[in-house]
Amino acid sequence: MAQTVKGTRDIFGPELRWFQWIEEITRQTMARHGYEEIRTPVLEEIEVFKRSVGESSDIVNKEMYDFIDKGGRHVAMRPENTAGVVRAAIQHKFFETNDPKRLYYIGPMFRYERMQTGRYRQFWQIGAEIFGVATPEADAENLTLLFELLQELGLVKLTLSINSVGTPECRPAFYQALRDFFDKSESEFCADCHRRIQENPLRVLDCKIPTCQAALEGHPVITDFLDEVSLKHHARLKEILTALEIPFEDNPRLVRGLDYYTRTAFEVMSSDLGAQSALLGGGRYDGLVKQLGGPEVPGFGWAIGLDRLAILMQAIHGDAPGKKPILLIPVGESAAIKAMILAKEWRWAGLEIQLETRNVPLKKSLQTANRQDFQLAMILGDSEIEQGVITVKDLTQGTQETMKLDSVVSDLRQSAYR
Ligand code: AMP
Repeated sequence: MAQTVKGTRDIFGPELRWFQWIEEITRQTMARHGYEEIRTPVLEEIEVFKRSVGESSDIVNKEMYDFIDKGGRHVAMRPENTAGVVRAAIQHKFFETNDPKRLYYIGPMFRYERMQTGRYRQFWQIGAEIFGVATPEADAENLTLLFELLQELGLVKLTLSINSVGTPECRPAFYQALRDFFDKSESEFCADCHRRIQENPLRVLDCKIPTCQAALEGHPVITDFLDEVSLKHHARLKEILTALEIPFEDNPRLVRGLDYYTRTAFEVMSSDLGAQSALLGGGRYDGLVKQLGGPEVPGFGWAIGLDRLAILMQAIHGDAPGKKPILLIPVGESAAIKAMILAKEWRWAGLEIQLETRNVPLKKSLQTANRQDFQLAMILGDSEIEQGVITVKDLTQGTQETMKLDSVVSDLRQSAYR
C-alpha cells in the first residue's frame, strides 16, 4: 500500500483546522497593515536559490530538492520564498517606481532535512516582505506586524533575539578573524565545518553538532567588525523596539542560515516548542534584489513555520474548535424530500446542515451523529411535518426540544448553536 513520501504528511482534522484558523488571522492582520498576497510557483530555476540563499548554505548545498525537468531545465522546489518573491517582483517590474512595496505569502516549502518533531521535508511558511525602505523604522514597522500577528494568535512566552550582521564590506575582516580562530582549534570541528571554514566561515556558527558548538566558545563576533552606519541602524532599531515595548535580547552570535542578510537579523524562539524552538526568522536583505538581477532596492522580511505554529496552538489550546454541522435525519419517504427542501432553505439562511440520505433506522443515524461529534441532530418524521415542527436533539447536552419549522433558523440562532 502506498504511503506518504518520507518527510511529508497529510494534513487534516484538528491540525488542518489550526492551519486554516492561523491562515485566516494572518490574512486579516496583513490586510490591516497594507500587505498584499503574492503566490509564486513551487518550482523555480535553481539559480534563483543559488544566487540568493547561497551555494555554501546547507539549504542549497545539502537540502534542496532539485532536478532536471523533461525540457533539460535545472529546477528546484523552493526551500524558502523570499528569493521567489524577489524574482517575481523584478520580473513584473514592481520596482519601477521607488514606492515601498509590501507583500506576503503562505505556502509549502521543501528541504531534504533529517526528520524530527516539527521538522519536515515539506513544511509551510507564512512570510512578509517590505521592499524599498532601508531605515530602521521599516525594520521596526515590519516587526510590529509580526508581533501583532503573534499576539492575535495568542502566543506569549516568546523571545526575540536580534543582531546586526553588517554589510558585505565588513565581512572580510570578520571572516579573517574567524579563520584565525579556527586555525587554532581545527581538529575539534566536524568534517562539514572544515568545508564551511573554506567556503564561508559564518556557516560554522550555525553547525548543530554539540562538539562544534562547544569548540566555538569565545569565537570572534560580527558586532566588533560593524561599520558606523550598521551600528547606528542597530542602535536605532533597539531604541524603537524599546519604545514599542517589544521585548528583545541582543545576541551577537546570531547569524542566519541564508547568505543574503545585511544588518538586522533576528529569530523568535518559543519555550513551548522544546528542541525545535525557533518559530521564525528573518532580517534585512539590502543586496538581494540587485543580486537577482533587479535594481538596487532594499528589503526586510521574515518567515514563520506554519507547522510549528500549529503544534504550538495544539499544545496551548488543545484541538481547534471544530464545530460539526447539524445532521438532519428524515424518517420516511415523504419526509426525505421535505428534509431536502428544508436543508436547501436553511443553508441559504446560513445554517450548516448535513443530510442523512442512507435510509437506515433512526437509531443508526443517531449513533453516527454521536460518533462523528455532531452538535445537533434534527429529526423530521411524518407527524412532525403534519404539525409543522421538528425535533431538535442537542447531542452534547443530551437534551431534546421541539421547534416550529417556520422559526427554526431564528430559534437556533438564539440557542447555544452558533
Ligand atoms: P528559515 O527559512 O530557515 O529561516 O526558517 C524559518 C522558519 O521556518 C523556522 O523558524 C521554522 O519555523 C520553519 N522551518 C524551517 N525549516 C523547517 C522544516 N524543515 N520543517 C518545519 N518547519 C521549518
